[in-house]
Amino acid sequence: MGGSADRGEGSTMANDALDPHVGVATAVRGDLPALGQDPSRTYRLGIMGGTFDPIHNGHLVAAEAAFDRLGLDVVVFMPAGSPAFKQDKQVSAGEDRYAMTLLATSDNPHFTASRFEVDRAGITYTAETLTRLREIYPNNVEFYFITGADAIAEVVTWRDAGTIARLAHLVGATRPGYDLESARRAFAEASCEFDVTYLEIPALAISSSYLRERVSAGQSLRYLTPDVVTGYIHKHELYGAHGGRYGQGRGL
Ligand code: NAP
Repeated sequence: MGGSADRGEGSTMANDALDPHVGVATAVRGDLPALGQDPSRTYRLGIMGGTFDPIHNGHLVAAEAAFDRLGLDVVVFMPAGSPAFKQDKQVSAGEDRYAMTLLATSDNPHFTASRFEVDRAGITYTAETLTRLREIYPNNVEFYFITGADAIAEVVTWRDAGTIARLAHLVGATRPGYDLESARRAFAEASCEFDVTYLEIPALAISSSYLRERVSAGQSLRYLTPDVVTGYIHKHELYGAHGGRYGQGRGL
């Protein structure tokens, strides 16, 4: 992997109908951001992968840090449809996880949310996602797959890991104090070469499981996730929330 990108103004449009440069190669499908219009430059697409059950401020801060530090043009949040390693676990409906992700990202001009994985039947494999994205985007768009460092540490064991190595730079978001040793060792021993960047994000002391526990205990999510996400959780009675509490102040 490699290459560089100069971040140009107006390169983050989410709708190719608004983009005067969109040509045959850059007509982008569905809700994916249009990128790659100017063949003389390189673009960097951040792909924020996660279950987002629910999305929280740690995810948002991590994506913003990746956007800034890696010179990304746009970050597309992509909730996993049926997460590969969670087949034996209870995960909220993709529709709810997507809706919360869309709400949480809606006020940031360089974030978008995509149904790309949620709408795909079967287990979500990152190699398949990247392969499909590679077919959609022209070659002057580089992919940066961003997720938690714990997940990044496992990438070498994922299906078609070599495809992932070939198609994307990896960005592992860690909380302070997280030990990167096992991740570094796994990549050093891998049969193919991965390009990995680690970002330490203090806000990742927050986790989705902590939010779920707080909701089920009737505790507030204030300052842990955008209020609009909290509202959605209560309105749709996720994680043991009671819709009746919504508007009564409890848990909000
Ligand atoms: P996970 O195992 O639930 O998450 C591992 C850790 O990373 C958790 O602490 C989690 O915290 C954190 N995390 C997850 N997504 C994050 C993000 N975008 N930014 C910062 N921290 C994040 O991981 P997962 O959510 O199931 O999967 C993560 C991504 O890897 C997804 O895109 C998934 O499709 C992909 N994946 C692919 C394969 C495969 O292709 N075989 C296998 C596993 C995962 P929170 O719980 O707070 O998010």
